[in-house]
Amino acid sequence: MDLTLSPLAQELADEVDAFVREKIEPAEVEIQRFYADLKAKGENSFVVHPKIEELKAEARAAGLWNMFLPVGEGDEWAERFGTRGGKGFSNVDYAAIAEKTGRTALSPMIFNCNAPDTGNMEVLLKYGTREQQEEWLVPLLEGKIRSAFLMTEPAVASSDATNMDARAVIDGDEVVINGRKWWSSGAAHPDCKVFVFMGLSDPDADRYGRHSMVLVPADAPGVTIKRALPVMGQLDEPFGHCEVELKDVRVPLSNVLAGPGKAFAIAQGRLGPGRIHHCMRLIGLSEMALELACKRGTERVAFGKPLMLLGGNRERLAKARIELDMARLLVQQAAWKLDDGGTQAARVDVSAIKAIVPSIACDIIDFAIQIHGGGGMSDDFPLTAAYANARSLRLADGPDEVHLGMVAREELKSYLAAQGAGAAK
Ligand SMILES: Cc1cc2nc3c(=O)[nH]c(=O)nc-3n(C[C@H](O)[C@H](O)[C@H](O)COP(=O)(O)OP(=O)(O)OC[C@H]3O[C@@H](n4cnc5c(N)ncnc54)[C@H](O)[C@@H]3O)c2cc1C
Repeated sequence: MDLTLSPLAQELADEVDAFVREKIEPAEVEIQRFYADLKAKGENSFVVHPKIEELKAEARAAGLWNMFLPVGEGDEWAERFGTRGGKGFSNVDYAAIAEKTGRTALSPMIFNCNAPDTGNMEVLLKYGTREQQEEWLVPLLEGKIRSAFLMTEPAVASSDATNMDARAVIDGDEVVINGRKWWSSGAAHPDCKVFVFMGLSDPDADRYGRHSMVLVPADAPGVTIKRALPVMGQLDEPFGHCEVELKDVRVPLSNVLAGPGKAFAIAQGRLGPGRIHHCMRLIGLSEMALELACKRGTERVAFGKPLMLLGGNRERLAKARIELDMARLLVQQAAWKLDDGGTQAARVDVSAIKAIVPSIACDIIDFAIQIHGGGGMSDDFPLTAAYANARSLRLADGPDEVHLGMVAREELKSYLAAQGAGAAK
């Protein structure tokens, strides 16, 4: 296993780190205050603060743009849309960059590397027709529009994707869409123009061939954003996580991605790299929390000693560092397997990181909150927002239990296969 970064990836990871610390972090204080003020006045807070667009333009000019594009199939687009070096990156390379973008909530968007747009762009890259790519992928790569991924439904347990009940019924040369989705991240963004919608097309087909993925323009007649759901009290502007109603929405049959019944095949391909990105961003977020814990714990004194030297705090700090480094290595291993053998070869490793990294991040951020005392629970530090983000990722893209189940199943399969081989001797 080779986890060495290419020189360009190392260079970009360092530049992204400096950009986040020197430009985005200071601006975020003003941007968050702006959204809090709008909310306090009871006004719509889903607007884009002008500083966000300024920073995006600066990042793009520096070539720190669309760095998630995969090597090979992403190369053409990386060259057309301004990624430094004009080529895509391997998962091992991009993981190091994603870690640096994870330090703050807005950073991934500033580099046009944020979920769910990256996953949706990958879907268009892999399964979109040339026309779909020109219509939707190009403006997404330019950062001019945003998108949302509409899978989860309030009415059914959506951790089992075969449960999805919203309809995408083929009617001649059209698809008729009906249903209600929720937790559609990004749907409240004023520039959100397209949804990747998953719906039931053929209830009688094989379990994994019943559903289709369809491109739905956000302004299609019959689409209504019902509300933005708060995440532990936060609306995550300018993205939002929405409940969306779709009533007799009609789109051309050509909007179906890769043809009817292919939703599962597409979801498999979409989520491998996406989970690596999520986990590496959480490692960056945890590094930020640990840095704040060290600062507060060494600068503030109680009972005659810096806080970090009291009670069991040194041990908690040491364990946080050890767990964080273990987590990074596990994600890098999954990234390498994805590069080396593709989605199928890496699927257990990808489930393993998705099952454990959000919990490690939660524990580390919780430690940082604790060492900040009451201040840790306020908005004076970015820790409660970080916690909400990490905690959400124990659910989003599949709850912990589903991924643990996958790891356990494969472990038992290997064990039983070995037993069977032994018995056969
Ligand atoms: C902030 C945030 C953003 C999100 N963004 C998106 C998005 O952009 N698009 C989208 O489509 N969805 C999104 N989601 C939704 C998320 O993917 C779902 O909430 C998740 O897949 C679980 O589905 P569910 O909520 O229906 O839970 P359910 O399926 O009802 O499951 C509830 C609980 O049951 C238990 N459980 C389920 N299966 C098993 C099992 N096999 N073994 C043991 N226990 C189990 C788990 O504890 C699980 O948490 C987001 C969620 C959050 C919180």
